[in-house]
Amino acid sequence: MSDSAIIPCPSCSSLNRIPTARLREAPRCGHCKAEVLPGAPFELGQGNFSAQLKGDLPLLVDVWAAWCGPCRSFAPTFSQAAGELRTRCRLGKLDSEAHQQLSAQLGIRSIPSLILFRDGKEVARQSGALPLPQLLAWLNSQGV
Ligand SMILES: [Zn+2]
Repeated sequence: MSDSAIIPCPSCSSLNRIPTARLREAPRCGHCKAEVLPGAPFELGQGNFSAQLKGDLPLLVDVWAAWCGPCRSFAPTFSQAAGELRTRCRLGKLDSEAHQQLSAQLGIRSIPSLILFRDGKEVARQSGALPLPQLLAWLNSQGV
């Protein structure tokens, strides 16, 4: 593993270079001072999506909508996973109602949908919610 990682700030999308040894020390964005790895999901949308695909950590996207019951019941699991994976994977939520064009570009046919990106490219996709152990196992099988 390299001794530093490039990570976009979840708040302002600025790229931060963070020493790998300091990933667990709640690093803050050099630009806006927000936590770079908050251990919680952050909001994705048309405005920040391509910027958030950058960097050295994989990005797991939960495509959801407020009217979708399974999406709402999956939300706490997704948040827990964000805490578990804090320094290994970034977790973002994409509201498919608020960002219909982006959802269409991603080819979303059902929600919730989980899409894993690495180096800016989709590497895996899962339709439907998973319990936390299965979610972590699925990500593990993808090298997260
Ligand atoms: Zn920032």
